[in-house]
Amino acid sequence: MTEERLSFQAEVAKLLDIVVHSLYSDRRIFLRELISNASDACDKLRYEALTDPSLREGAGEFRITLRVDADAKTIEIADNGIGMTRDDLIDNLGTIARSGTESFVKQLQAAGKTGDANQIGQFGVGFYSSFMVAGHVEVYTRRAGDTQGWHWTSDGGGEFTIGEAEVSAPGTRIVLHLRDDAAEFLEPWRLKSTIKTYSDHIAIPVVLLGTEEQDGETKDTEETLNEASALWTRPRSEITDEQYTEFYRHTAHAFDEPWHTVHFKAEGAIEYTGLLFIPSQKPFDLFQPERKTHVKLYVNRVFITEEAPDVLPSYLRFMRGIVDSSDLPLNVSREMLQHNPVLRKIQNGLVKRILGDLKKRAENADEYATFWETFGAVLKEGVYEDQDRRMDVLELARFRSTTADGWVSLADYVARMKTGQEAIYYITGDDPEVLKRSPQLEGFRAKGVEVLLLTDPVDEFWINSVPTYQDKPLKSAASSAEGLDAVADAEDEADKTDEEKAPADQVEALAKALQESLGESVKEVRPSSRLKESPVCLVAEDGGMSLHLERMLKNAGQ
Ligand code: ADP
Ligand code: MG
Repeated sequence: MTEERLSFQAEVAKLLDIVVHSLYSDRRIFLRELISNASDACDKLRYEALTDPSLREGAGEFRITLRVDADAKTIEIADNGIGMTRDDLIDNLGTIARSGTESFVKQLQAAGKTGDANQIGQFGVGFYSSFMVAGHVEVYTRRAGDTQGWHWTSDGGGEFTIGEAEVSAPGTRIVLHLRDDAAEFLEPWRLKSTIKTYSDHIAIPVVLLGTEEQDGETKDTEETLNEASALWTRPRSEITDEQYTEFYRHTAHAFDEPWHTVHFKAEGAIEYTGLLFIPSQKPFDLFQPERKTHVKLYVNRVFITEEAPDVLPSYLRFMRGIVDSSDLPLNVSREMLQHNPVLRKIQNGLVKRILGDLKKRAENADEYATFWETFGAVLKEGVYEDQDRRMDVLELARFRSTTADGWVSLADYVARMKTGQEAIYYITGDDPEVLKRSPQLEGFRAKGVEVLLLTDPVDEFWINSVPTYQDKPLKSAASSAEGLDAVADAEDEADKTDEEKAPADQVEALAKALQESLGESVKEVRPSSRLKESPVCLVAEDGGMSLHLERMLKNAGQ
């Protein structure tokens, strides 16, 4: 049997080096990762077999099996899922396809250097976590529908081998040759408690295979270690926080804690169950142009797809989790899900639920701030993308401002508007500290009028789609100081003597002279009450493009 020797992608080699040489706080997670992959593989095959039942002929029920050989010091984890072709092996186990891999490895390396085991534990390394406990890993696999099987091996250095192998049925079997210091995992009780802790939520049975001596005969034994029912079908009262967290990590391929969990059953014209999470950390692909959502769609507990575009709108793409409905046909193809009316209704229900939950969580300002700082820039896209819920999303938005230290809602702003103030003022830019000092805001500062500082690129896009909030117009402080005169003077301004204020006719004359000498290069020179310390400032035309947007478009080469 010839085995071909291949090199890992450079990032994988680095990652393996870190995995092998840094102490993970909890090495048990290798088991969680391998079982999670086995379960995914079964989900994938179940879906493919909907359209091609021959893929599962004679395959029996889906299950994941564990076998320990104490003498050989090996653990085997096997599944009868989709399996892998030779190319799959190279792509999936030799490279990391996920976006942001390079920065991910860098962060991991930095954490590895400081030796902070807890910190490293936050980074998921999936299949490669096998090398935390095994000095040598073998994979036997056969893709459902293929007759040729494959054997993959590596000892976690820079290389792996691939060769043809006899594999009797479709699926994957992973053999871990444990290092001496990981011998504890040869103990069945250790495996059992680990599965209970990390993999109880897995919907497919995880079965420990063994043998037993009885009346001088050796008998095979089987013990199912997990509950083996889909977590979302269990009553909420019977699910622990840990189980929710582990389920989140499995479905989202994430490693943080969920910031928010929502589990509910909708019973009405359309029935469905949602188990959704808001992560506490930013996923890597949050700002990729595709703006993909990541909620998995199930029909009657059969995984269909993670790519259905209508499960959630893009502005909720930070959400993770699943939705399961029995009101979609089981043989629904991924194409049929485009513009599907049932899915539309489900989306509506989910969005309502999520925004409602966020509103409740916003009552705790400190907790909400952590969410807002992580995902606010994404949620704000909803203001211009979701016409129907624009105001709901706007209520959830928080802003920095010239007068507040923390986050401000529009409702807070309106509640403390100055006597005589008619509009909500904002200014857009890159840096809140720079904006605060902007000469364009001098007049606002002098009158003590609060100005919202909009510093996310997305702000330029939604702001023009919201003419008013609570009947107050939203106005750019950079293009209009109109209305400022009507605001009651702040103390220091009222104290100014007449001599300190420039006579109106002189200012008028100066503006005219400047206009003549600047000619075409400006649209207009006009006196303004906005300036207090600086003699002049640049402003954008009322209703025109803001200076910040102009700069942004110029940088983007438009
Ligand atoms: P992730 O699960 O986040 O994609 P992993 O490192 O855990 O990352 O796995 C990498 C890939 O290897 C998986 O996406 C899958 O394509 C493949 N894979 C791993 N284990 C199996 C398995 N038991 N059966 C089939 N494919 C697998
Ligand atoms: Mg995985």
